[in-house]
Order: sequence, then C-alpha cells, then structure tokens
Amino acid sequence: MLSELADARGKLSEQQLLLREIFEDLIEINTTHSTGNTTDAAKAMAERLTAAGYAEEDVRVLTPDPRKGNLVVRLRGTGARRPLLLLAHLDVVEARKEDWSVDPFILTEQEGYFYGRGTTDDKAMAAIWLTNLILYRQEGFIPDRDLIVCLTADEEGGDFNGVKWLLSNHRHMIDAQYCLNEGGGGQIKNGKYLINEVQVSEKVYQSFRLEVKNRGGHSSLPTKDNAIYHLSEGLIRLAKFDFPVKLNEGTRVFFERMSAIQTGRDATDMKAAVRLPPDVAAISRLAQSPFYNALMRTTCVATMFNAGHAENALPQTATAIVNCRILPGESPDEVLHTLIDVLADDKIGVSPIWEVTPSPPSPLVPEIMKAIEQVTEEIWPGVPVVPTMSTGATDGLYLRNAGIPVYGVSGLFGDIDNIRAHGKDERIGVNAFYEGQEFLYLLVKILSSGKSFQ
Ligand SMILES: [Zn+2]
Repeated sequence: MLSELADARGKLSEQQLLLREIFEDLIEINTTHSTGNTTDAAKAMAERLTAAGYAEEDVRVLTPDPRKGNLVVRLRGTGARRPLLLLAHLDVVEARKEDWSVDPFILTEQEGYFYGRGTTDDKAMAAIWLTNLILYRQEGFIPDRDLIVCLTADEEGGDFNGVKWLLSNHRHMIDAQYCLNEGGGGQIKNGKYLINEVQVSEKVYQSFRLEVKNRGGHSSLPTKDNAIYHLSEGLIRLAKFDFPVKLNEGTRVFFERMSAIQTGRDATDMKAAVRLPPDVAAISRLAQSPFYNALMRTTCVATMFNAGHAENALPQTATAIVNCRILPGESPDEVLHTLIDVLADDKIGVSPIWEVTPSPPSPLVPEIMKAIEQVTEEIWPGVPVVPTMSTGATDGLYLRNAGIPVYGVSGLFGDIDNIRAHGKDERIGVNAFYEGQEFLYLLVKILSSGKSFQ
C-alpha cells in the first residue's frame, strides 16, 4: 500500500498518533442534543489549531446558541481557485451507557475496532479533517485554493442546524466551489473491499395528507357515499401505481459500475437498464429489489390511516398520510398533481405537510471524480468508485440547495452487514480509520495543488 502517513514498521506514525489523540478528544466530549455541547468540542479543536500555528482570525467558533457552537477554520491558499469546503458534524445521536457494552463516551480500542458514539457518524471524519489541516500547515503546504474545515452542530436534530445557520448568517465564511461531506464511504463484504461510494445526490422527503369529509349519519342507514370507501379505493389505485423510471447521471453510472461487480441476472439486467432505449423487462426485474426500485423512481407509500369516530356511526372523516421520496430534480408540485390524478376522486383532498428544501444532484465533474478514482486505485487497487444517491438526507441538502455541489466521500470502509451508526456499540475498524485519513489527505492535496483533472 502506498503510504505517505503510515510507518514502515507497522507502528503508528506521528501523524496517526496525532489523529488518534484528536479522535479521542472528540469522542470523549459529549455532543448529544440532550446533555452535550458542541461548543466545547469546537473550542477544544480551535485550541489545537492555534497551538499548531493557525492565526486567531482563521479559527472561528460561531455559536447561534451557547451549547450549539460550530468551528470554521481556513488554511489560506494562493487563491488561484475558489475554496474547497471540508464538512463534518460534531453532534452525535444519544447513547446510554447502560445499553452499551462499553462506555459510549470513552474511546475504546478492542480487537481491531475503535468503539464510541460518533466513531463512524461523524467524528472520524471531523478528526481526520482537523488532523490533516494541522499536517498540511506543518509541512508548509500552500494549496491553490483555500481549504475550509467546518465542524457543525445539530445535523442529527435540534433547532440550530449549523450548516443552515452558517449559510444564512456567515455564508462568506463557508462559501466554496465544492464541498466534501459524509454520506459516502467504502463497503466491505465478508472481509473483501467491494466499492468506494461517492454520494452525489439525495432524494427529497415529502409527506402528503389525504382527507375525505362526509356528512356521516347513523350506521343503520348506510349509503354508498362513505369516507372510508372513498379513501380506501383511492389508496388501492395508488398501491398499483408506479412513478416512471428516471435514471440520472449518478444512478446511470451506479448501475454501470455495479454491473461489473455483480454476477448473473443482476449484472446483465443492470447493463440492459442503462442502455438507450432501456430494456423495460430488465428494469422491472431490478425494481423487485426495494433498494434498486427506490434508486430508479420517485416512490409514494401510504404510511398512516385514520377514520371514523364511533362504531355505530358513518365516518365523517377519513385521513391518510402518504410519504414520498422524490427523485432529485423532480418537483414536489408535479408529484402532488400525479397523486391527485392517480387517486382519481375529487372527494379526496391532498395537501403537502410541510415545505421541502429541494436538493439538486451534484454533477460528476472529472476534477472531483477522477481525483477520487486515482487515490482509490492507489490505496485499494481494483476497488471501483461508485456514485450513489441516498434515500435519506444529510446536511449536504442545504449546500446543494444553495448552489454548492456536495460529494459524500470519506474513504472510510465498513462492513455493509454490520452498520452501527446511531445504534449500540458504534465502531470503526482501526485500519479503516487510518486508511481513511490517508485517502482524504491525498485527495484534498490533489484537489488543491493544481494537479487536478479538468
Ligand atoms: Zn452523520
């Protein structure tokens, strides 16, 4: 393995020791919403940076609320190109000591893993950005664009989402040409490194409320005009409906690359699905997998139903919630109109539950994608880089919506059959962690040293 950071004798290098120390600091500062504090974590990191020679004005702790601080640090470059934003969130999901096998707020190394709340989501990446920024400065590396590391609050919930708040109050401090963020990462299956994922888009979450009103009456004198029947029949029509398949740039490349590492029918179906015109039979076979189906189309599904007020009365109201995951680039308004058409009953009122933030896909620009492919090939020869679309959302949403393309890429590999983020005994492989450091160290250097692909 090519290694600028690893020690030849297999012991931890100085750079790895520094990373481990910073990681430990971060894990051991509780940053949960209930009792934690991201300002403490931001300040501890700020101190490390100023001790490493960063000027006070380039290390800023910005706090919308005393417990919800964000850190923004800038390594100044020549300014030949617009900045690169390196994002991670400081806050973590709740963790109760009694539910875990180890203390979630102490970094524990055991049998090849680091355990602790935030080890994968998202303090590994936060620690790596910070450490590498210190290393670049120690080396005297002068990037051709400013590197901004931004560690934020309330990604997991809470009233002070750091990215949203910084965009509306201090946009100039985090404004960038591109952002690298969580959301990607490598997959290991049965010990084998499968793919290195780059998250380039996210589906948009939108729920709709369906409602039928009726004048009701005594259940001994029923009529055919019944609120429950109206709504049920509409929902049955929805159950049989599929939104059209629409592959975008990212999902197209996803299927192309996955077809190379799949075998049998899946592999040939994936190849046939991306052909122009696409093979309809192949697409419907792929769509039998809920995951592939969700990648190819907008989905809307009934998740709640409520009706009636008494056993012996005709229902006056029937309501349902339909949850939609909308393909990036498709308008929630169009989805609303499709729903109205499919339900095909003007007695069923349909209204969106809240206003959504759109999240356009980030383009697969060669400057970013080729750099990721090159570093992946250097560290893990033969492992393909695969663009992905999340069916959930990260803070990348706000940046994409504000016109800053976001790439979810970490080079942090984990077992796809044992994902523990948000759960009990969250952990990251020790080797995977140091490999991720090296990957991001090299990647950011390529992206900021004029060696970039155009
Ligand atoms: Zn996260």
